[in-house]
Amino acid sequence: MTSRRALLKMGCACCVALAAPAYAVAQTPSPEVAQHLAAARGAAGSDLGAYLVLGRSADPNFKAPAPDLEALMKIPAPPPGRAFDNLYFVGSKWVSTWAITTSDGIILIDAMDNEEEAERIVENGLKSLGLDPAKVKTVIVTHGHGDHYGGANFFAQKYQSRIVASDVDWTMMETKLEFDTPLWGRPPKRDVSVVDGDKVTLGDTTIDILITPGHTMGTISPIFDVRSGSQKHRAMLWGGTAFNFGKKPERLQAYIDATARTREVAKQQGVEVFISNHNGYDGAVDKLAAKTGDGPNPFVLGAPTVQRALTVMNECAQATLALWKS
Ligand SMILES: [Zn+2]
Repeated sequence: MTSRRALLKMGCACCVALAAPAYAVAQTPSPEVAQHLAAARGAAGSDLGAYLVLGRSADPNFKAPAPDLEALMKIPAPPPGRAFDNLYFVGSKWVSTWAITTSDGIILIDAMDNEEEAERIVENGLKSLGLDPAKVKTVIVTHGHGDHYGGANFFAQKYQSRIVASDVDWTMMETKLEFDTPLWGRPPKRDVSVVDGDKVTLGDTTIDILITPGHTMGTISPIFDVRSGSQKHRAMLWGGTAFNFGKKPERLQAYIDATARTREVAKQQGVEVFISNHNGYDGAVDKLAAKTGDGPNPFVLGAPTVQRALTVMNECAQATLALWKS
């Protein structure tokens, strides 16, 4: 494996669901591991199986395909689309940017891999949807991995957009990147720093900042309202999904705690829409293609399904931690 190839593989391990585990696989799960895997499968049902990939390192029957970031980035981008009246998808097949429209401009959540993608996929995507990219006032970077911040500088420099990230992940981007590859743009300079419980407001729209540590220790999972005509729904974007940080039990415990806490927050707020910054988890591209004017909106999962999604993630993390401790 060349050093460049090694770097790409490592970079790929950042966020994509396909990354191979970096630790040993047990041949027969211990009773505790098996119990958590069974709970994950039960919660996943027939509709949330994409999240079961998180349990792959604990499940000897799971065959993980080989990841290749470069190949993933070369897949032609799907058409951009409108998930709700105020929420648009402008992403690729593997990593997503979401645009929230407000009375005073646009909030982007994440900015793709690099500036070329920011221009080609996000800027052009906004234009093709009838949105003015010059109105992008704010870019929320969910976490400090390059497939989410790589295009942020494009908007900061061309449109003077403000870049929001958690204090913890700003520090990571300033001091030591966990993953990097030449395919990703450089981290933006520290701009707006947020902590758990903060709110980011633009015009008539407020985004609640929930910090969900684990994938990175400062991952932001934003919560906000989406609208379809007269209907309003509470939505959450889970900001960092894979446990690809190596065998770090305390960090996996943070993920377990974050999913459990978020399940309570989602229950209290009646979160019915649960999206991701990777299409591999939320199936956004297929949902946009399936969306029709008359039928039910496939992005409205309902509160019980959102609870189940968080349970799948939580149980997969518990299975992996049990494996590490066995
Ligand atoms: Zn990541």
